[in-house]
Amino acid sequence: MAHREAGLTLRLARILAPVTVLGPGRRVAVWVQGCAIACPGCASVDTWDPAGGEAVPVDEVCKLLADQIGELSLDGLTITGGEPTSQPEALAELVTSLRARLGPRPLDVLLFTGRTHPAATRVAPALLALADCVVAGPYRRELPGEGRLVASGNQTVSYGSAAARRRYEDWNAADGARLQVTAEQGDLLLVGLPEPGDLSEFESRLRERGVGLGEVSWRA
Ligand code: SF4
Repeated sequence: MAHREAGLTLRLARILAPVTVLGPGRRVAVWVQGCAIACPGCASVDTWDPAGGEAVPVDEVCKLLADQIGELSLDGLTITGGEPTSQPEALAELVTSLRARLGPRPLDVLLFTGRTHPAATRVAPALLALADCVVAGPYRRELPGEGRLVASGNQTVSYGSAAARRRYEDWNAADGARLQVTAEQGDLLLVGLPEPGDLSEFESRLRERGVGLGEVSWRA
């Protein structure tokens, strides 16, 4: 069993750090590749193809994240996508081995899933049990969400502990940015939970300044 888990791979879309708009503190965010839920209005259409991205051994991802957490003094890991619960074993192994590698240093884990919480718990019980906070449910653009944790009002938020609930509720109530723009290897990345209209406004403001966007993640 241990030998089989050592060989797990994770299909990844991208890893980015530091991220300050997907959970409290400074974080590393992992976008997994592959999502069959296909929510209309999804901002990450580029992560849908299960054959896209790159398959990377979990131990390699673990080392990379541990290095980034140490070098950038990060507080947490955010797992999003794509659909994380479609790769439950690899992600549970990643979180477990990352925490083991970090030793006494605490690692807050935020998990976004497009499945409802009961459905996600059925397919990925070990992964959900490792998360400090789980935001669950498909994106429904006709139901705008409130705050910085949920993109749409149907989504639920669950906490692994009372301390995690306080941490997230304080962060969500604080007056902070909801979106972060980052340049990464020639790509401009818009990170966070956009509200309806944010993406087209972002595009038109850039166009006004003479900057045209080519391929964008929110269009197939
Ligand atoms: S919003 Fe999330 S669950 Fe919905 S299609 Fe996009 S990646 Fe999949």
